[in-house]
Amino acid sequence: MKQRSPVITIMGHVDHGKTTLLDKLRKTTVAAGEAGGITQRIGAFEVVLENGQTLTFLDTPGHAAFSSMRQRGANLTDIVVLVVAADDGVMEQTVESINMARNANVPVIVAVNKCDVKSANPTEVLLELAEVGLQAEEVGGDIQTVEISAKTGTGLQDLIECILVQADVLELTTDRTSAVEGVIVESRLEKYLGSVASAVVQHGTLKKGDHLVAGTSYAKVKQLFDENGRVIKTATASMPVDIAGWKTLPPSGEVLLQVPTEDRAKEVVEWRKRLQQEEKNLEDFEQISQHRQEVRRMYNNARKKFAHKWYLRRKFLGEETAELIKRKSGVPELNIILKADLDGSLGAVNDLLCSYNCHDVCELQVVTEQVGEIRESDIELANTLNAVIVTFNVSPSKEIKELAEKSDVEILSFNVIYHLFDALVKAIEELLPPVL
Ligand code: GDP
Repeated sequence: MKQRSPVITIMGHVDHGKTTLLDKLRKTTVAAGEAGGITQRIGAFEVVLENGQTLTFLDTPGHAAFSSMRQRGANLTDIVVLVVAADDGVMEQTVESINMARNANVPVIVAVNKCDVKSANPTEVLLELAEVGLQAEEVGGDIQTVEISAKTGTGLQDLIECILVQADVLELTTDRTSAVEGVIVESRLEKYLGSVASAVVQHGTLKKGDHLVAGTSYAKVKQLFDENGRVIKTATASMPVDIAGWKTLPPSGEVLLQVPTEDRAKEVVEWRKRLQQEEKNLEDFEQISQHRQEVRRMYNNARKKFAHKWYLRRKFLGEETAELIKRKSGVPELNIILKADLDGSLGAVNDLLCSYNCHDVCELQVVTEQVGEIRESDIELANTLNAVIVTFNVSPSKEIKELAEKSDVEILSFNVIYHLFDALVKAIEELLPPVL
């Protein structure tokens, strides 16, 4: 394992000076001078210090890039520089950045920016940061803070010092002999080169001819370039590099891996595509089943909404009842004509029916209740009201049975009261719309 340079992401609230700081840092590098200041934006750049040490900065400020990498499982950032404007203090995205860095377990260095501005109040910034759980060394914590001006360049050297100290603590290492591993920072189409991806290598030594996969894209490395567009032979850990030779554009934040052959690359990509499709299918399936559940819930709610209290109408109201029942058409109703051998039996049956008032989605209409035999008029009434004749301890005569059959009237006879009850409940259930 060899030592490697740190990869730094600059985060912070909008307008607090992230872009200005990146520009200033890019200009501090000796290499930028060599290249005549023509710097290509390839998503990451190196700051080469006088002693030859390098720092790699991701050139994509803000949390979008940071979170997209995290989502894809890439852990490229070693250190977060949190920019907080001294004249504005801790803002919404400042807190978001802190949380992101914390969740990713990445150490934070605070750059209190715009210290050249008159209204700058760096002390206040530190207090505000402490309030959101980031304790600067100055207030007894362990977070390094630097007062800078990205505009004038004041404090930039101090910031670099802080980064070096932090990198030392992290003891960042790499294995240059292993298969290449890295992260895609961004990708683009170029006129003569085709699909080009900017990446930062983390392990191994990347060279021309290597086979790579990133997500569902693969490449045979055609050419490598440094951030200034110069052709390079190899790229090692923490080096930003442009890779030409991709069959399709790999998405930024994707993990870059070396495979031994093109066949293997294709195989990996095919497998990943299939996996993606399966995941999508699963998602679709989950959505459908969620939808189904929702429909079911709505349906059952609707059923309850239309619920009508089960009530017993003890008195036969003739035309009036028929009218009432008609008006209520739409609500599932079970009309019954109750016949029993004794007054006491009728009472018992009624009591039992009353006890079933928990059923609130159907109306039970006892259109008439009488002691005695079933008569022809009962059959007629049942026919008119589409009612069921329910008897308790009363057996219909042969003639009545025949008449009922002819008139399509159902007679349910019982000698056991609970059987009667069960049969009625079942009859009611049958009238209800089906439960999905
Ligand atoms: P970003 O949204 O965080 O990338 O912020 P920018 O870098 O675009 O800066 C927002 C504004 O603040 C610009 O007008 C910058 O010129 C200005 N700015 C950035 N840094 C400083 C600084 O150190 N001092 C002063 N006075 N202005 C700054």
